[in-house]
Amino acid sequence: MTTARHAPSEFNVREIDVPVRSISRLGPLVGTERYSDLRLAAERTSRRLDGQTVWNFSSTAAGGGVAEMLRVLVGYIRGTGVDIRWLVMAGDAEFFSITKRIHNRLHGVSGDGGNLGPEEADHIQRVTDSNLEGVLDRIQEGDIVLLHDPQTLAMASAMAAAGARVVWRCHIGREGANQWTDQAWAFLRPHLAACDACIFSLRQYVPSWMDASRVRVIPPSIDPFSPKNQEMSPADVIRTLGRIGLLVQNGPDLAGRFTRTDGSPGRVERRASIVADGDTALALDAPLVVQVSRWDRLKDMSGVLEGFALAVVDQVDAHLALVGPSVANVTDDPEGAEAFAECLAAWGALPTKTRQRVKLVTLPMDDVDENAAMVNALQRHARVIVQKSIVEGFGLTVAEGMWKGKAVIASRVGGIAEQIAPGTGILLDDPADLPAFGETLAGLLTRPDEIAKMGDRARQHVLEHFVGDRHLIRYAQLIEWLVV
Ligand code: UDP
Repeated sequence: MTTARHAPSEFNVREIDVPVRSISRLGPLVGTERYSDLRLAAERTSRRLDGQTVWNFSSTAAGGGVAEMLRVLVGYIRGTGVDIRWLVMAGDAEFFSITKRIHNRLHGVSGDGGNLGPEEADHIQRVTDSNLEGVLDRIQEGDIVLLHDPQTLAMASAMAAAGARVVWRCHIGREGANQWTDQAWAFLRPHLAACDACIFSLRQYVPSWMDASRVRVIPPSIDPFSPKNQEMSPADVIRTLGRIGLLVQNGPDLAGRFTRTDGSPGRVERRASIVADGDTALALDAPLVVQVSRWDRLKDMSGVLEGFALAVVDQVDAHLALVGPSVANVTDDPEGAEAFAECLAAWGALPTKTRQRVKLVTLPMDDVDENAAMVNALQRHARVIVQKSIVEGFGLTVAEGMWKGKAVIASRVGGIAEQIAPGTGILLDDPADLPAFGETLAGLLTRPDEIAKMGDRARQHVLEHFVGDRHLIRYAQLIEWLVV
C-alpha cells in the first residue's frame, strides 16, 4: 500500500457550535437530591478549572453514539460556565478505512482483513498532524483535551507536549481479548503513554495491562430533552412519520413539530429514502418493529431481517423497519454503504409476501436535529424495538427505546447487558440464533400487556441509571482529579 504525502493542513479540524443547555432543566425530572449533587459538582468543577478550556475531539458530528452524546454533554457543561469545545477532525478515505479496521478489531473481529503496521501508523499520524496544525496553537498549558475513540488518539502526544492534560475516551470494546483485539491494542498502545487517563464505558473493556490508576469507567447516558428523546405528541409522531413517507397521511400533509437543541421550534420537512415492495406508507395501526442503527455489520441488520422473516411473518401481522442514516453522509464509516447494500440484497431475495412486510429506511442527515426527531418518532411509534448487535460498545439506542417506554429485545452483549435489567426488556443469549430471536419477537408481539409493563419498568430504569446528570457528575469528578 502506498500513502500519499499531504500538504500541510490538507485536513482541517472543524468546530461544532453546540447550543448552551441549562442543567436546571434536569431538576424536576431527577429530583431534589440528584439535582443538588449535580449543581454542587458543577460549581466545584468551574472553580477548579479557573478559565482553562476543555477540548473534545471526535471524528464525526453526526450519525453515531459519540456525536449524540457530545452534542448534549458539551451543551450542559457550557451552561455551567465552563469553556468547553467540540472539534471534528477530517481525513481521507484511507484514514477512515484504517480507523474502521481498528474499530472492528477492538470489537474482536477482523473487519476488512487489512494490515495495522508501520505504514498505517504513518498515514494516521500524517492526517492527524495536518489536523493539528489548525488547532495546536490554541491549546494552553493546563487545558484538558478529551480525545474520543481511536480516530483521534494520535493527537495525544502533541497535545501533551502543548501542556494539556490528555484523556482518551474509548467508546468501544469487547469483553475478553482475542488475536484481533491484541492487534488493535498493540497499534494504539504507543499513543497511550501521553494520556493522563483513559475512560471506558464498561470495566470489562479495560485491557489487562493498562495501569488501573489511570482508568475511569463512565457509562454513556441519554438526554430527555434532546430532539432524540424529548416528549412528542402522538399527533406529531404521526405527522413526522407521514412526512418522511413511512405512514399514510389521513389528513393534510403537516410537518411534525419538535424543539431544536438550541430551543427554537423545528419541523420535520424532509422525506426518508424508503425501500419497499408496494406502498412505502404503512397504515397507522400496523404493528411496527424497529431497529435503528448505523449500517454496520456488527449491528446485524441482515440478521434482524432474517429472524423476522423466519418466525414473525407467518405468525403475527407485524411489519419491520430497519432504519439507519443515509449512507452518503457518515464519512467516518466507510463500510456503511457496503453493509446497506448487503441488507438490500438480502431484502431483494426474500419471498414477495415477506418482502412486503419489511422496509429499509435511510434518514437524511442534512439537519442533525431533524434527523433526531425522525428517530424519536420512529422509536415512539414502534410496538417493539430491537437491537440485535453482534457486539456493542454501549448501545445508546437501547436506552433511547427504554426511555420511550418501549419493550426492547436486544443481544446480551457489551453495554446492552448492563442496560436491560430483569423485567425491563428481553436479552437474547445468542445473537447468532436467528430462529430464537424471531420466536422471541413473535411471542412478545402477541402479549400487549407484557409489552406495556416492560415498557413502564424500562423507562423507570433508564431514569434511575442512564439520564445525563449521572454522566455529568462523573465528568466533574474526572476533571477535579485531573486539575488538582
Ligand atoms: N442514530 C441517528 N440517526 C440514524 C441512526 C442512528 O441519530 O439514522 C443514532 C441513534 O439514535 C443513537 C446513535 O446514533 O443515538 C447510535 O449509538 P449507539 O451507541 O447505539 O451505536 P454506535 O453507532 O455508537 O455504535
